[in-house]
Amino acid sequence: MAHAPPHIAVLPSPGMGHLIPIAELSKRLVAQHGFAVTIILPDGPLSKAQRAFLGSLPARIDHVVLPPVNFDDVPADAGIEVRITLTVSRSLHHLREALRELSAASKLAALVVDLFGTDAFDVAREFDLSNFIFFPTTATVLSLFLHLPELHETVSCEYRELPDPVQIPGSGVPIFGKDLLDPVQDRKNDAYKTVLSQARRYQLAEGIFVNSFEDLEPGPLKYLQEPGSGNPPVYPVGPLIQADLCNGSGSGEKEECITWLDEQPVGSVLYISFGSGGTLSSRQLAELASGLEMSEQRFLWVVRSPDDAVSNATYFSVHSQNDPLAFLPEGFVERTKGRGFLVPSWAPQAKVLAHRATSGFLTHCGWNSTLEAVAEGVPLIVWPLFAEQRMNAVMLVEELKVALRPKEEEDGSKIVGRLEVANVVKRLMEGEEGKKLRGRMRDLKEAAVKVLGDGGSSTTALAVVADKWKSKVGVA
Ligand code: UDP
Repeated sequence: MAHAPPHIAVLPSPGMGHLIPIAELSKRLVAQHGFAVTIILPDGPLSKAQRAFLGSLPARIDHVVLPPVNFDDVPADAGIEVRITLTVSRSLHHLREALRELSAASKLAALVVDLFGTDAFDVAREFDLSNFIFFPTTATVLSLFLHLPELHETVSCEYRELPDPVQIPGSGVPIFGKDLLDPVQDRKNDAYKTVLSQARRYQLAEGIFVNSFEDLEPGPLKYLQEPGSGNPPVYPVGPLIQADLCNGSGSGEKEECITWLDEQPVGSVLYISFGSGGTLSSRQLAELASGLEMSEQRFLWVVRSPDDAVSNATYFSVHSQNDPLAFLPEGFVERTKGRGFLVPSWAPQAKVLAHRATSGFLTHCGWNSTLEAVAEGVPLIVWPLFAEQRMNAVMLVEELKVALRPKEEEDGSKIVGRLEVANVVKRLMEGEEGKKLRGRMRDLKEAAVKVLGDGGSSTTALAVVADKWKSKVGVA
């Protein structure tokens, strides 16, 4: 082992949205700092999308899949946060075995978990590993997480009942309780208890990486990096997003939707996707389709089957159970042929956003999708569905001013009607307003290139941690 490279284990929570950015962090540790990385997946067996993605990673990034977790005793309506945390806590025994093998065979320095994985810290300590969190979403949400234990003590009602915005340390964006992330909406729910207990355990981390950078969130990042805040050191390393090559089928073949984009005029297509798990109700799906048709704009839409009960129906599987195109209004496919391209369930998003034909993105505001849009300078229509997406939407519209937000009907149905869809799509794709948003997005794109370049703030932050880990295992 004398010349073995320093080694890191990473433990992403289930979901492509968690795997992709932590793999990107791994790639940087390999390419810039000579580490080897093992990704430990606690949610076997792997989905097709996961397999393709893992298969496309560099040779120095290995993976181990832990046996599936039994959820038979967990209520069907348990929140995603509860399931994700249980996936980790019920895999600790297998994790211990995996870490034992790795630390016997390599210079293992650290375990990096993501937002709901801190239960693994106790096991990592048995092997004297440095415990780190990779926080895959915003510094604003991280600041809220770190503040949550105090908020819990000082506020006795539901946060959504507070008349004033909730003060998130460092954030200047007025975020009302109703817009906070889903699991804190009901304090009696297990999802809240899970998030609160994870938030308390954040203090056990030796450091926290956050997938953001100063130009996006100056206030929260300044607060989080102030010495004496009492929190673990925070390292902004973003935007870590998937590179073009690692996306899609991994087969190297050109996907059909990219060939279609090649045939469209420059800057003419609106891309529509609700991430890896987002689903709309049947009525909303129909209104969105009709609105797109009325807008007369070109569009590329990743369509999933509707779900009238939850907005994240495919989170653990990505793929719809039924043919999603069968749920669109009658005749829609024929009427929009040529102008619209439909992809069932999964598109090579990074390639789509990077394409010269794409000039707008209707997104659920998942943070990876948001960062991918920033990296390509593509302005947004925000359509938040679950998790912390409403908070991201407020920031994008009100603070960064790079997005438009369609209004819901006033009848309390929470539906965005077809007229509003058509209106907002035209404003983004054709109007002066769209141009301004695009200009600001391009400024952010430039800033993103800078922070990730040589000597940029994100590159430097990662180097500081990499050096600590190297000296821990005696590698100069
Ligand atoms: N993604 C993709 N194709 C799709 C849908 C999603 O490549 O059809 C990728 C997307 O590029 C992003 C990730 O999956 O990297 C989704 O992460 P995000 O945080 O945006 O949303 P989540 O899936 O966690 O809700």
